[in-house]
Amino acid sequence: MYDINHLYEATSVEHAVQLRVEQPQAKIISGGSDILISIRAGDLAGCDLISLYGLDQLRGVSLDHDGTLRIGSLTSFTQLEEDGLIREHIPVLAESAGTVGGPQIRNIGTVGGNTCNGVTSADTAGTLLAHDAIMELTGSQGVRLVPLTEFYLGAKQVDLAPDEIATAILIRPDHYRGYFGAFFKYAMRDAMDIATSSCSVNVKLSPDKKTIEDARISYGVAGPVPLRTRTAEEAVRGKPVSMDTIEAFAAGALEDVNPRTSWRATREFRLHIQGELARRCLVESIRRAGGNV
Ligand SMILES: Cc1cc2nc3c(=O)[nH]c(=O)nc-3n(C[C@H](O)[C@H](O)[C@H](O)COP(=O)(O)OP(=O)(O)OC[C@H]3O[C@@H](n4cnc5c(N)ncnc54)[C@H](O)[C@@H]3O)c2cc1C
Repeated sequence: MYDINHLYEATSVEHAVQLRVEQPQAKIISGGSDILISIRAGDLAGCDLISLYGLDQLRGVSLDHDGTLRIGSLTSFTQLEEDGLIREHIPVLAESAGTVGGPQIRNIGTVGGNTCNGVTSADTAGTLLAHDAIMELTGSQGVRLVPLTEFYLGAKQVDLAPDEIATAILIRPDHYRGYFGAFFKYAMRDAMDIATSSCSVNVKLSPDKKTIEDARISYGVAGPVPLRTRTAEEAVRGKPVSMDTIEAFAAGALEDVNPRTSWRATREFRLHIQGELARRCLVESIRRAGGNV
């Protein structure tokens, strides 16, 4: 059923890196929910695989001494959804993980796979992007940190060297403390569907809750890779919490997105829902931050 030539099973991060150097033709497999589909479809038939699945040290979420949230690359969507630190500090990330596929996919699929696949519809990628997440990559020369905003090079292309694996995703305290977020995924049905488009927003309000001190927004399926729309962010920074500000946010977002027509939806339809997603996510983020519109 699965045409796999050889499976190398990594027993440690060092061993995984060594296997990457010794077997440059081999593909990494974590949960396998993307790569096994490609093998079965014949696109990667006969390939060699390096499995990270046994690396339990890459599973789970922890808090570094400086308050940085460290999400192990093998953390599954279910773990992300249920994790106490994520629910306390970035509940919107738990919510976005909860929209992936169905329970079986959420149990097996990993956040490392959801970012390293370079796919624009990846549901956790947008929320990570909107929190200025950093990819921790480990290779033969040691650890390299790459902001997620720079990790995406093009459709299904990421900045991962041939000897590297993703070991963690980091979110610094100044990128989540004081921020409140909302995520909406527009799909044809509520489960087991890839996003027609998705949007993740988070805001920081002034102490009196009347001014937007900072806002960040990202989209899935608004271009070849998950993307931030900086025009929207700049349009509302320092502005009063009001309907005019929300409209300026949506208008700014539409200046930066560039969706395409596919069998799922036309470009025009995606543009329509992307404006609406910006509005809804911002209103909900403001509400969660204690503001009123
Ligand atoms: C039925 C079904 C429904 C789905 N629904 C959704 C959905 O709603 N939303 C969504 O976002 N996704 C969905 N997916 C896609 C998939 O579950 C995710 O993309 C998942 O996050 C991939 O993670 P994985 O561990 O299974 O990756 P794998 O299949 O193991 O790997 C995916 C890619 O990432 C690379 N990779 C994996 N881990 C690492 C690492 N640590 N370091 C470097 N490279 C790595 C692999 O080489 C491969 O190229 C669905 C898939 C299926 C089959």
